[in-house]
Amino acid sequence: ATSAKKTLTIGLIPADGIGKEVIPAARRVLEALPEGAPKFNFVHLDAGFELFQKTGVALPEETVERLRAECDGALFGAVSSPSHRVAGYSSPIVALRKKLDLYANVRPVASARGQKDGKPVDMLIIRENTECLYIKQERIETTPSGEKIAWADRRISEHASRRIGRMAFRMALARDALRQKTPEAERLWKGPPTVTIVHKSNVLSTTDGLFRETVRAVQGEDPAFEGVRVEEQLVDSMVYRMFREPHCFDVAVAPNLYGDIISDGAAALVGSLGLVPSANVGDTFVVGEPVHGSAPDIAGQGKANPVAAVRSAGLLLEHLGYTNEAARIYNAVDSVLVKGNLVTPDLGGNATTDQLTDAICRQL
Ligand code: ATP
Ligand code: MG
Repeated sequence: ATSAKKTLTIGLIPADGIGKEVIPAARRVLEALPEGAPKFNFVHLDAGFELFQKTGVALPEETVERLRAECDGALFGAVSSPSHRVAGYSSPIVALRKKLDLYANVRPVASARGQKDGKPVDMLIIRENTECLYIKQERIETTPSGEKIAWADRRISEHASRRIGRMAFRMALARDALRQKTPEAERLWKGPPTVTIVHKSNVLSTTDGLFRETVRAVQGEDPAFEGVRVEEQLVDSMVYRMFREPHCFDVAVAPNLYGDIISDGAAALVGSLGLVPSANVGDTFVVGEPVHGSAPDIAGQGKANPVAAVRSAGLLLEHLGYTNEAARIYNAVDSVLVKGNLVTPDLGGNATTDQLTDAICRQL
């Protein structure tokens, strides 16, 4: 995280579908932060599948250049994924992660205070975002008898495992510091800061073995890390326990594919995709991004839930060093959700995106 300064320049990339509705909502919430918060400059930037259909470019060079040159961080909306392969098109958010070396996908999964349905959960999932099976080294061969066999390589490196491990330890400590700072807030997690390493090294002893050993070894790098409890969970039992007793987890760190699967699974614990934020984090840049997609079924109707995007703006602030402002946003969202009278249709209400956003702004 960079150290706090008074003016923040934030790139806004709404991209497709409801991204165009929820990113402006997140912007309004940032602007509604009370006195003492940083001043915001917003830079509007293009990307997306719709842009590709118009111009043949999904992620303009200018967007990347201006993020690098002008912005402290960014908020990304959503991209529609075409249902079939489109020649020349590849996902702009995937490209952005590569270009800015955003090697971690960070996803807090938390039930709202007072939420009645579902199990209480307040965990943070950290997914490695650069390797594992996502290196896409696949090949297919045909045996003499005409049978096809397909192969995929999976890369796990010490370098990538070490930096994701460091992030997990740092974030476990940051969450703990926030809990200490606000003892009045009721917390689900009562134990010491804990990192759960998710792997399958009983089967994949070489690749997952390296991930597990490397993340464990990070603990010895910094005396502060000694206060963190390290646990392990095989990915299958991780899924089982996450659904049965999600309150048993604080920070979970996982290689790319397991991380993908458990983060969507965990999102199911909190009721609506419209509630779950994420951040793409590197050593020098952060992009907040709601977990949901472009939701073509409800796009343009003013009924998208803005909370995932608003919480993503909070995550962005957290990573830029503005923990207090982030906490204000989370609390305002929680208060509005707990009252429950001003929520969007995905949560069983009939408020519009704007009405829910207004309520959050008023709460701030
Ligand atoms: P994409 O290809 O962009 O991922 P999708 O069809 O998979 O599009 P998602 O955005 O992943 O759509 O959403 C899945 C379901 O959840 C849809 O029915 C959508 O309407 C709903 N949904 C997603 N985000 C929200 C939101 N912010 N508010 C309300 N409903 C949402
Ligand atoms: Mg989707």
